[in-house]
Amino acid sequence: MLESRMLGNQHVRFGWGQSEKEQLMIPLGIQPSGSKNYRNLAGCLPNLQERRDAYRLVGKSITYYDQANQLPEIKEIREEYREIHSQVLQDVLRKADKAFKSFFTRCQRGATPGYPRYKGRGQYESFTYPQVGFSLTHDNQVCLSKIGSIKVKLHRPLEGKVKTCTIKREGEHWYVVLTALVEAEKLPTSDEAVGIDLGLLHFATLSDGSTLENPRYYRQAEKRLQKHQQSLSRKKRGSHRRRKAVKKVAQTHRKVRNQRQDFLHKESRKLVNTYGTIVFEELAPSHMSRRPKPKPDETGKYLPNGAAAKAGLNKSIVDAGWGQFQQYCVSKAANAGRQVLFVNPKSTSQVCSGCGTVKKKTLEERWHSCECGTELDRDHNAALNILRLGRSRQASA
Ligand SMILES: [Zn+2]
Repeated sequence: MLESRMLGNQHVRFGWGQSEKEQLMIPLGIQPSGSKNYRNLAGCLPNLQERRDAYRLVGKSITYYDQANQLPEIKEIREEYREIHSQVLQDVLRKADKAFKSFFTRCQRGATPGYPRYKGRGQYESFTYPQVGFSLTHDNQVCLSKIGSIKVKLHRPLEGKVKTCTIKREGEHWYVVLTALVEAEKLPTSDEAVGIDLGLLHFATLSDGSTLENPRYYRQAEKRLQKHQQSLSRKKRGSHRRRKAVKKVAQTHRKVRNQRQDFLHKESRKLVNTYGTIVFEELAPSHMSRRPKPKPDETGKYLPNGAAAKAGLNKSIVDAGWGQFQQYCVSKAANAGRQVLFVNPKSTSQVCSGCGTVKKKTLEERWHSCECGTELDRDHNAALNILRLGRSRQASA
């Protein structure tokens, strides 16, 4: 199962077996009943405390069911819990249970995991109505049990059967996230195939020679982020101004991440709609992480590994999103009944797409020129090689 999320009043689809899961994230201008319910929710987390104590005393965990069974009693004692829908409480317990289960599993494997953290107010960022307790009315109100109705703006109705409703906070913004299951839409089969070279200069170069460019706002946001980060570094630890600066940095990151996801969703949708087969290079793990890790050589010294070459770009922003892009293509293609192939990236930029001879190039050489008469952009040449490798894979299958 592949997951993805997008902010704004937008539909997001992601693969879930045969049917698709569609998610609608609606920004809320107001906080649900101030932040009282939210506080209440954070307040129900002493249940986590209880489990920790049990673990310390007898070295064993209380189960989700133990705690869920206690909910009515807990509600008797703690009035504020009565204001929270029981399914929401159960969801909180379920999340805590998951955290504890993985904690114990890691213990059994002999690892030393971090103890599940008590999440105080401000840390718990969402709560979910897993089945009931919420409804969507015809006049565009989301009614949440024990919280009330919130007017929302839907740009188009959510298709399919609504399964869950999550209230989510990102920074200072609140969202309602509705998840629905819809039948997957198969696209007609297509013989059109494309090879795609992913890069830093162009986000992607297609085997037809066209390119997908990184949106311009990356650069703008990059500058803004740099400014905010510098300002943050000048602030005194623990100060009010520092807290404000931290918020600004987080805001910028969030904005860029959302814009990037938006860009990746749109472009992957176009590709899947156009081509029956999409061929990518397999990404090296270092390309998927935010920053390439330094690799020690035999003598223990660190070798350059391209980190410096990429230093001109703020990786936290550009982070290219290649892995995510491939993932979006895979899930959209799976739902549409189309194909995404991955080929070995070895020497795709060195081999001539015209005659197959190897033309060694440094990273700086942007042009591929061969005695056979093939003259083209380095990345275009690579994209053609990627397509060829994909086609030969298809032929041999
Ligand atoms: Zn050639």
